[in-house]
Amino acid sequence: MANTYKGKPIPDEYCDPVFNVIMTSPVKLNCGHVFHKTQITRWTIKTPKNNTCPLCRATIETITDQTQLGKEAVKWLVSNGFSDVAFSSTDGVPFD
Ligand SMILES: [Zn+2]
Repeated sequence: MANTYKGKPIPDEYCDPVFNVIMTSPVKLNCGHVFHKTQITRWTIKTPKNNTCPLCRATIETITDQTQLGKEAVKWLVSNGFSDVAFSSTDGVPFD
């Protein structure tokens, strides 16, 4: 079942699998998993001795911006009438 934002089903690729937000600033870890940037940054700060992916527990070595994917998520929000949160939510946009 797809996650929704104000009743609209969100494409899976825009959904953070752990932190339950639409990823307007996604990053990819070396293991291949993608998370919203500020959320995964907070996670690594909170667990400095356990610097691992919250999904697969691989050690985090690299964090790469996924600029294009972020733009698409923002475009999805704008085209569905949610421009108010599309640009202002540094922590990502929480699902319903
Ligand atoms: Zn992972």
